[in-house]
Amino acid sequence: MPSPSPSATPERLIRREVLALHAYHVPPASGMIKLDAMENPYSLPPQLCDEIARVVAEAAINRYPDAGAHSLKEKIRAVTALPPNMDVLLGNGSDEIIQLLAMAVAQPGAVLLSVEPSFVMYKMIATFTGMNYVGVPLTEDFALDLPAMLAAIRQHRPALVFLAYPNNPTGNLFDADAIAQIIAAAPGLVVVDEAYYAFASDSFIPQLARYSNLLVMRTFSKLGMAGLRLGFLAGSTAWLGQMEKLRLPYNVGVLPQLVAEKLLQHHDVLLQQAAQIREDRAWLFERLVGTVDAHAYASEANFILFRVNHADKVFEGLKQRGILIKKLHGAHPALADCLRVTVGAPAENEAFIRALQESIHQSVQGINHA
Ligand SMILES: *Cc1c(COP(=O)(O)O)cnc(C)c1O
Repeated sequence: MPSPSPSATPERLIRREVLALHAYHVPPASGMIKLDAMENPYSLPPQLCDEIARVVAEAAINRYPDAGAHSLKEKIRAVTALPPNMDVLLGNGSDEIIQLLAMAVAQPGAVLLSVEPSFVMYKMIATFTGMNYVGVPLTEDFALDLPAMLAAIRQHRPALVFLAYPNNPTGNLFDADAIAQIIAAAPGLVVVDEAYYAFASDSFIPQLARYSNLLVMRTFSKLGMAGLRLGFLAGSTAWLGQMEKLRLPYNVGVLPQLVAEKLLQHHDVLLQQAAQIREDRAWLFERLVGTVDAHAYASEANFILFRVNHADKVFEGLKQRGILIKKLHGAHPALADCLRVTVGAPAENEAFIRALQESIHQSVQGINHA
């Protein structure tokens, strides 16, 4: 038996920037009230579940999926109100679409520009694909710093700009006029990431025809299909045709295609759930605002960012009480003492508020007695 080559170690073989990365951490949540990942807490009506079961039972899972996903794309067009001549490209979640876009433009020295704090995958995927990442700080109240953005665009000439609208983890919609100025100034593509469109009061889909360098990305994850993994990119065929070359032909499986199609046939059910979540959000926001020693940020998404003293302790206190949210403290200097809670079902929200108030109280006592 030849002995294995001593040079084949991860440290020698794997790209330096990959060795330096930390894997995206998904904490265990079994048995907890799960308010950490922007999932829709509501289940589907039993009749719709039966329809899905039938579709799945009859699915030809021995065959490769329809690589063009024609039938599903048609449904997506029907529920999205795309401007004429605009096309869609499907991804295995919108994370995959971010990766496709980056791969397509990652020439040596190419820059991916976004804002900070925002969705962490922009920076991670820039790193995966060998792009240079530039993160322009938001203002103190998490608004776009337009002069800084325009200066960074002039200086770095980004091939790709990502703007989450509403932004994650801050929950706000950026000023639409500022975004329009960024699109006009950008020498490359501007992707408006509308992962939370179902909970927001505005969209750039109607603007697609107006700017040749604008693309709009959406996902169905936050609408109630996180487990299916389905996102899409909307824009002109001139761009999407190029991206299609990089898309792996069977990136969306038979079952996700069929189930998503069935769900989109009942889009009204999902929209009704989204409307309920917006109401639940208003309740939750009011309670957070009324919580002593907590400061909540207004949100157009299905989560709320808030600040407390001793975020580490409060986060642990919530966990001890069976409630998992997202700790952002430590993720970025602008998010010091910040936590993010996903809007859950009413009983979950109530349990969260109760546990939060106890945890804050306990963290203050713990400090005083230390
Ligand atoms: C959740 C999220 C995504 C990714 O969603 P997928 O589940 O991969 O479709 C993309 N952008 C933002 C801003 C998000 O919050």
